[in-house]
Amino acid sequence: MYDFLIVGCGFAGSVLAERLAEAGKKVLIVDKRDHIGGNAYDFYDTEGILIHKYGPHIFHTNSEEVFRYLSRFTQWRPYEHRVLASVDGQLLPIPINLTTINKLYGRNLTSDEVVKFLASKAELRKPVLTSEDVVVNAVGKELYEKFFRGYTKKQWNLDPSELDASVTARVPTRTNSDDRYFTDTYQAMPKNGYTQMFRNMLSHPNIHIMLNTNYKDIVDLIPYQKLIYTGPIDAYFDYQFGKLPYRIRFGEVFIL
Ligand SMILES: Cc1cc2nc3c(=O)[nH]c(=O)nc-3n(C[C@H](O)[C@H](O)[C@H](O)COP(=O)(O)OP(=O)(O)OC[C@H]3O[C@@H](n4cnc5c(N)ncnc54)[C@H](O)[C@@H]3O)c2cc1C
Repeated sequence: MYDFLIVGCGFAGSVLAERLAEAGKKVLIVDKRDHIGGNAYDFYDTEGILIHKYGPHIFHTNSEEVFRYLSRFTQWRPYEHRVLASVDGQLLPIPINLTTINKLYGRNLTSDEVVKFLASKAELRKPVLTSEDVVVNAVGKELYEKFFRGYTKKQWNLDPSELDASVTARVPTRTNSDDRYFTDTYQAMPKNGYTQMFRNMLSHPNIHIMLNTNYKDIVDLIPYQKLIYTGPIDAYFDYQFGKLPYRIRFGEVFIL
């Protein structure tokens, strides 16, 4: 008899399994894939290169508690992500910052001046409903077209005008020259990869792992008290209200 049947060996399932096991509960954790780690799964190829199978995952958090907790299962390799976008024949920092604007427009603006510059470009949208509205409202149509439209379309396979405002609201525009992708206090990569970190997390005598297992195939066969499901919510309800309208595309991009 298991206290918990956990569906999904990603971040959510693995952390819950570890926490519950540590509290004395017996846990069965299953995944329909042939590996642990969920979308953060990585592996070493034959050349010894660490590959993030489902697209690059960069660890970042402002929570000391989270960082300390995960540090029990991995050492870290310092890493701060920096991205350049190819725009009009130049490689420019994204998210947009002071350097981006100065290089793009051949200017030499200061931080204060760039605030006014962006304000002069911004086109008021009211109400702000879509991702397009968010960006155009903040930096105007021109920067929207150059930096956001194609990028968002590639990532979500939808035009920003079809996406909720919250999707691009996470992309900042900076008026200083900080060219890091994230500004969180803790930014790093697990020294030996995410999968090894999850392996350490799940190597608890109270945790039993079953891979290549769709929970639906075993849910009636295995005795358990409570089920925790960490897969897609629309799949859980057998798509009875249809598929969720959008979700991030795999293997091509990273998300913010
Ligand atoms: C391309 C990409 C890049 C990303 N980059 C970053 C990043 O840089 N930084 C960051 O913080 N986050 C990033 N994320 C987000 C991150 O991947 C997720 O936040 C995280 O993986 C969520 O963990 P989870 O455990 O909730 O879900 P998942 O990792 O999706 O795990 C759920 C697991 O449930 C399993 N499952 C589903 N249905 C069943 C079933 N019926 N039976 C058995 N098992 C089932 C799935 O196989 C899966 O392994 C990225 C995501 C993607 C797609």
